[in-house]
Amino acid sequence: MAYLLGIDIGTSGTKTVLIDEAGRMLASAYAEYPLAQPRPGWAEQDPDLWWQATLAGIAEVLKKTGLRGEEVAAVGLSGQMHGAVLLDKDYQVLRPAILWCDQRTGAESEWIAETLGVEKLFAWSGNPALPGFTAPKLLWMRRHEPALYARIQHVLLPKDFIRWRLTAELATEVSDASGTLLLDVARRRWSPEMLAALAIPQSWLPPVYESIEVSGRVSVSAAALTGLAAGTAVVGGGGDQAAGAVGAGIVQSGLLSVALGTSGVVFAATDEARILPGSGLHAFCHALPGKWHLMGVMLAAGASLQWLRNNMAPGDTYDNLTGRAARVQAGAEGLLFLPYLLGERTPYPDPAARGGFIGLSMRHELGHLVRAVLEGVAYGLRDSLELMKRLGVPGAEVRVSGGGARSALWRQIVADIFQAPVTVVNSSEGPAFGAALLAGTGVGVYASVEEACRKTIRVESRQEPDPSAAEAYEKGYALYRSLYPLLRETMHGLTSGFGG
Ligand code: ADP
Repeated sequence: MAYLLGIDIGTSGTKTVLIDEAGRMLASAYAEYPLAQPRPGWAEQDPDLWWQATLAGIAEVLKKTGLRGEEVAAVGLSGQMHGAVLLDKDYQVLRPAILWCDQRTGAESEWIAETLGVEKLFAWSGNPALPGFTAPKLLWMRRHEPALYARIQHVLLPKDFIRWRLTAELATEVSDASGTLLLDVARRRWSPEMLAALAIPQSWLPPVYESIEVSGRVSVSAAALTGLAAGTAVVGGGGDQAAGAVGAGIVQSGLLSVALGTSGVVFAATDEARILPGSGLHAFCHALPGKWHLMGVMLAAGASLQWLRNNMAPGDTYDNLTGRAARVQAGAEGLLFLPYLLGERTPYPDPAARGGFIGLSMRHELGHLVRAVLEGVAYGLRDSLELMKRLGVPGAEVRVSGGGARSALWRQIVADIFQAPVTVVNSSEGPAFGAALLAGTGVGVYASVEEACRKTIRVESRQEPDPSAAEAYEKGYALYRSLYPLLRETMHGLTSGFGG
């Protein structure tokens, strides 16, 4: 029996899991750390916090299981994407890492979008220039911290900094590198065109591996610190979205995942690099050789329900609220909800979009509002599915995860609105678990990532779409879709000066 270690460098903390090759969770550990916000909209973290959390996590899972370091067959890394870790010529960290959620690079990302234009940007990188991506952070430093910028010799992503500490190798892999805006996602290599256009030296960037390739081995000094054996293989691993998808078994075309967390994500594996410029869909390399993935992001999915509870029914439980919604028919008696409380990403990349209830009448009470929120979130997520369908992605089965997946009603609403069966799987440990499966594949414990998923992931519940609800929801969806284009100018008027 082989044992595998998976480490996920999250934004709030680092999760470490130790599993056996059958996928059994032998131990897990979570070490939290703070997010620094030195100015409004900024988000930074000292990379050493990740390393300390990694050391603590490895020690804890080895202690809990009683396994010796030599018994760990391989290590897989995952982590928050996009963050910029900057090292000087002596490999010293130059400044706190600038994270994915940092908002300071609005001007730089606009400059990239305008200078290159949509066509070149998508042809060279496959993606839009979003402020969270890595490249705009480098341009921001060039302008605002020129002395530090002049000392940059190496740029790493968060999990790759941990790889550097573990193996003394500078390396990354295709899925995480996809979020830099510097990777040619279709060809799975750094983009010479993007680097030249932004005047970023390629020598700053590490070699790019496939996610299942061995990228280095635990060094003698890291072995002494971690308790792992020197020489233990460290595989490429994956960005948290790609590794999380592996952990949920989303590794073949036809399977979609829908995360109903605070934000919502629709994720599909594809066999080709496909893009739809301007749609707000991300197209990244998947953590399997020769596979890509598409991703649509809704900013306020669970957050919409949370907002409703906090403001309309403070202190009430989600189960109580969804119980009230279950007594209301599909369609909430003519009430629609737009979930753009935080602006939107997909299908409308529009920070000034706003939410609303449309169709309120004297008949409606709290149960209707809750039902409309559950349905409105599912309609918004279906928008991402429709974009993916335009790229030829079949939506045969939808795997739901996140806090909202606890509600059988919400899962059924997703099944009915997506017109596809909805399943929930046994693995809930997300990216760290996926990273461990990638590690096992890299050292031959599994013949492929697909086999790793088959051997470790089981479907625990399955709900079929209800044909009697289909008609109401098709009408509801058509009305929902008509609203944003009609209200866009109104929303923008409201956010620019009318009442703040
Ligand atoms: P995060 O995305 O922040 O990690 P979660 O995945 O736990 O968080 O999702 C939190 C959201 O899940 C809440 O905002 C809420 O909308 C939803 N949620 C949590 N529990 C339930 C429940 N029992 N029924 C319906 N929705 C729930």
